[in-house]
Amino acid sequence: INVSDLVDESYKRINEVDGKVNAFLTLDEENARNKAKALDGKVGDNPLFGIPAGIKDNIVTKNLITTCASKMLENFDPIYDATVMEKLNAENVITIGKLNMDEFAMGSTTENSAFKVTRNPWNLDTVPGGSSGGSAAAVASGQIPFALGSDTGGSIRQPAAFCGVVGMKPTYGRVSRYGLVAFASSLDQIGPITRNVRDNAFVLQSISGVDQHDSTTVNKDVPNYTDSLTGDIKGLKIAVPKEYLGQGVSEASRQSVLDALKVLEGLGATWEEVSLPHSEYGVATYYLLASSEASANLARFDGVRYGYRTPNPKNLMELYKKTRSEGFGDEVKRRIMLGTYALSSGFYDAYYKKAQQARTLIKQDFDNIFEKYDVIVGPTTPTPAYKIGEMVDDQVTMYARDLLTIPVNLAGLPGISVPCGFTNGLPLGLQIIGKHFDEETIYRVAHAFE
Ligand code: GLN
Repeated sequence: INVSDLVDESYKRINEVDGKVNAFLTLDEENARNKAKALDGKVGDNPLFGIPAGIKDNIVTKNLITTCASKMLENFDPIYDATVMEKLNAENVITIGKLNMDEFAMGSTTENSAFKVTRNPWNLDTVPGGSSGGSAAAVASGQIPFALGSDTGGSIRQPAAFCGVVGMKPTYGRVSRYGLVAFASSLDQIGPITRNVRDNAFVLQSISGVDQHDSTTVNKDVPNYTDSLTGDIKGLKIAVPKEYLGQGVSEASRQSVLDALKVLEGLGATWEEVSLPHSEYGVATYYLLASSEASANLARFDGVRYGYRTPNPKNLMELYKKTRSEGFGDEVKRRIMLGTYALSSGFYDAYYKKAQQARTLIKQDFDNIFEKYDVIVGPTTPTPAYKIGEMVDDQVTMYARDLLTIPVNLAGLPGISVPCGFTNGLPLGLQIIGKHFDEETIYRVAHAFE
């Protein structure tokens, strides 16, 4: 087959279903078709050669509008490519378009987008999850074979779980954040969303590695991830935190994990219940730290340098105020206020510093478990996808539902979500968490399971 046929398939499918799903914000059809034509008749020696992809709209793409689903960046036309885009382009991946998300990646339903509401392909009355909801929905509905998302507190894994696809949040430092519009820099990572584990391993392979533009990337060899897809997990030691099957976790999620553990046992793994005693502080710690970092990162949107600018301001102060009041949505403003408060003098020790201390304790909990076990397994989310609108006026309940994904970001660990069943026609996800830079073992387990 020709690359043009693949690209054609993708746009055909988009025409068929995206009127209902609403996953894409921008399509790049002319460029994609031209690029494909230039590759027709050629055979690549890399697995991603000519493969169509969708990109979350907080990853900058040269000459392709990148909005972060915010009015603030509605017409922002980046002058450079993110490092992950350079890497994908070098492999001749074809960018089909940019995908919807919660504004600046803040949210868990994609309803915080300034532009459209994306729907879950399994049930159009429910949300696809978030913040990478467009990415997960586009892959789940067969519009593209893979998408890139970003995960600060679960935004790859949670939508992957809600949409029944595979989503990997790599170790902090594995993938360059250069060109990812910063939300909370100490937590953000880019990762792949795919239909199966093998595809996921291929994509992570190609976007990983040290980058001179991101000093938090680590200079470590990138393993051949597909080598670990042997199906063999005999002797593997699994830890199951009791906090991940306890309060706040639905019976359906709990049962799907217990069933998955039976499958893994059947493949020769063993599991034991363990405790991550500080995980109850995860949500509070995360929302404090992430908001603090966001308040600093989003200070750059001031109407002066780029992005939205209020028309006819009377003076500089009014320019700042009106630009930011008009350009940001409610949830983004909420986070900026919370973060600015937490970082202000007099409150810093009580909030930010305390949260940093709690973060260390949460990380130590994981370190202790990984002295004895190879992976940690639990549900990705405490429930399946919500009804559209159900959470809009209840952000605090929505924050609390991030309890199973957030600790992984706080500790900088890698974690994947793979489909592990259905309840009432909606998918559920199994989360597999690994040691730092041990994505290989995660893939091995995920592949054996799927
Ligand atoms: N739901 C979380 C939040 O709103 C996670 C977001 C993310 O991972 N980008 O902050």
